[in-house]
Amino acid sequence: VLRAESICKSFDSHKVLRNVSLTVERGELVSIIGPSGCGKSTFLRCLNFLEIPDSGTVTIADDSIRRNEGPWRSSDEAQAHQLRAHVGMVFQSFNLFPHRTVLDNVMLAPRVVKHVAPSVIESEARELLAKVGLEAAALRYPATLSGGQQQRAAIARALAMRPDVMLYDEPTSALDPRVAEEVLEVMRALDREGMTQIVVTHDMRFARAASDRIVFMESGEIIEIADPDEMYLNPKDSRTREFLGASL
Ligand code: ATP
Ligand code: MG
Repeated sequence: VLRAESICKSFDSHKVLRNVSLTVERGELVSIIGPSGCGKSTFLRCLNFLEIPDSGTVTIADDSIRRNEGPWRSSDEAQAHQLRAHVGMVFQSFNLFPHRTVLDNVMLAPRVVKHVAPSVIESEARELLAKVGLEAAALRYPATLSGGQQQRAAIARALAMRPDVMLYDEPTSALDPRVAEEVLEVMRALDREGMTQIVVTHDMRFARAASDRIVFMESGEIIEIADPDEMYLNPKDSRTREFLGASL
């Protein structure tokens, strides 16, 4: 469902991504791990063109963008817009609209984009809030919720556009472990429903327990991709071994 081919990205002369390629099948949960600054967030942002790669191809569902050297044109931006319609993104910092209720946060994008009756949008939004365990909080404002509740609201909001793929950048890093667990449980439930998910995480326990595959990045490259047990018990690359050894 998602394929990234030879993604390169530099900031000035600093090469942050060097030919990064990754294919994710429908229904997979893939974790991306690696040391701070290795390019995980940049790669995730390149997947939906929040960051414009210098070169490479991204295909999601049946939309594809091939990036060559040269200026980024408005026709490219239109393509990127189409690509983003397949993707829901969740950040470390929740990013809910503070002056809107949880329900409004979830309804906002569909209301603008979808041509369906408001009552349908509302009932779909309430269904999503139920799915993330927030039906009782529908009319509250983000600031009155715990971090875990806010993050679950952010997930519901991302799901409201019916994405093919969910991307998460350290969704639990700002949360204490107990609250983080509620968010991770939502992600596991989505996995059971067949959602395709890519998660940048420092939570090695979750990566090992919940992922179908783990991607280890270092210095802008994918060093190793493996099943969790294989990666932890029998890493192929000495850099993977070193990183996991240090983080256990
Ligand atoms: P962390 O685990 O700390 O979140 P990361 O693996 O997500 O790290 P990135 O945020 O992708 O790393 O950053 C990779 C490198 O690119 C870093 O050296 C960072 O300073 C640099 N970088 C990222 N975004 C920009 C930007 N907009 N302008 C310049 N440099 C950037
Ligand atoms: Mg990051």
